[in-house]
Amino acid sequence: MTTPIPDHLARYAAALDDFDAFAASLSRPLPQTVMANPLRIAPERLPELFGGELSLSPVDWCPGAFRLSADDRPGRLWGFTAGLYIVQEEASLLPARMLDARPGHRVLDLCAAPGNKTAHLALALGNRGTVMANDLKVARLQALYDLCRRLGLCNISVSGHDGAVYPVADAQFDRILVDAPCTSEGKAQRGYLRASSDRFRTFVCGQQRALLRRAFELCRPGGRIVYSTCTFAPEENEASVTAVIEELGGRLRALPAAVDVPGATPGLPGFNGRTYHPDLGHAIRLWPHRTGTGGFFAILLERVADDDAGAPAPPPIQPLHEAADEDLLSPGLARFGIPPNALDGLHLFPLGNSLRCIAVDHAPPAGVALETSGLEIAQLSRGRARLATGGLLALGSQAKRNVIDLDCRQLDIWRQRKTQALSAANVGSAEPGTVILRHAGLVQGGGLLRQQEDGLWSLESHFPKAWVTEPRT
Ligand code: SAM
Repeated sequence: MTTPIPDHLARYAAALDDFDAFAASLSRPLPQTVMANPLRIAPERLPELFGGELSLSPVDWCPGAFRLSADDRPGRLWGFTAGLYIVQEEASLLPARMLDARPGHRVLDLCAAPGNKTAHLALALGNRGTVMANDLKVARLQALYDLCRRLGLCNISVSGHDGAVYPVADAQFDRILVDAPCTSEGKAQRGYLRASSDRFRTFVCGQQRALLRRAFELCRPGGRIVYSTCTFAPEENEASVTAVIEELGGRLRALPAAVDVPGATPGLPGFNGRTYHPDLGHAIRLWPHRTGTGGFFAILLERVADDDAGAPAPPPIQPLHEAADEDLLSPGLARFGIPPNALDGLHLFPLGNSLRCIAVDHAPPAGVALETSGLEIAQLSRGRARLATGGLLALGSQAKRNVIDLDCRQLDIWRQRKTQALSAANVGSAEPGTVILRHAGLVQGGGLLRQQEDGLWSLESHFPKAWVTEPRT
């Protein structure tokens, strides 16, 4: 029997020969995935460390990613706050895989918030070079600051422009992601079952086309764009891409993506009496009942190189903030025996009361109003720099002293921001003051070690308040 589903989804019976299976899949819970952060951990260590708490099975088409079961809660585990992995729905892994950004590429994520796909792109560049994360609702990119802090990303600048009029000279990016606003029908398994109004659909279709047109202009000839949405609606997928390809008369074309997601299907040749451009056959559609993911659409596009145009002019670069005095950080590094060359390849600059670091080859294009850049590595107070959680996580693996290893119970106490007593054996040769805390050999963050008058040791937690989660009942 067909599971009753709302009319706006029932219309896909015309596109699916296994519609009942589609309908049934919409009420199934949607499992998430974790993807290992290669800056911190080899993927094969995730099952070794978290196999008891998460049911991890490799996502064959995305190296380093593991599918979980629906009741796993990876965001509550220490591996999350230690930046060992990124958590997201499996379908969201697709655009960055398809875009195939590599070190040396200049990358733009035009609709980036909350930012998980930006993080993939930043890692694909080896945490160097330039990723521009833009979103009209820049406040929604707050989550990206936190992601950078956990993962140690220092090649991202953030802006809040309307992507359809992104204000830089054309042809400046090698890779562009347009993860467009849409009606989100593909999130039905997460309870998004209400139909969007016709007015909203018409509005987002206009936005999608305007964003893709601007992405075409911003892409260098021969460069690549991925257009993606999390809706089933052909009007927002095949039709939006067809409209722009046709408008551009051969200057934008689709390419087959070298990603083979089991169960995925190509773009639709037509729907509701409309026929789409044949290039849409290269698109990848994820239907939940076939792929076990949320609903998703993505297509890889290329701005066709123009033989007459010659090499594009070198892009005008926006000078970044004035460099901070590197000596500011020297006492902080010396306390932990972190070698000064840990900062090689990074540019330090002050921003408000924080000291940030960014890849030296990070080159935001002139014209963008930057909200922020890089990773907060230390906090500045009265002319001194104190390594912040982001800095401890990013540099702490190189520490040689003032490091304390915590067992599971101690780690839990620290993650609840509680002060705890430590034995002399536990403290070892660490001296009173800021210490780096490790668990399973992996850096977790910091704390303040004190020796009391009676000689006993206590450890105050510097675990970020915003990262505390309620214990699972
Ligand atoms: N790529 C994001 C991620 O993986 O976390 C999700 C992006 S979400 C599907 C679409 C985003 O487009 C929303 O955050 C929305 O604020 C943004 N948006 C909508 N209109 C926009 C515009 N004209 N320019 C830039 N961003 C826009």
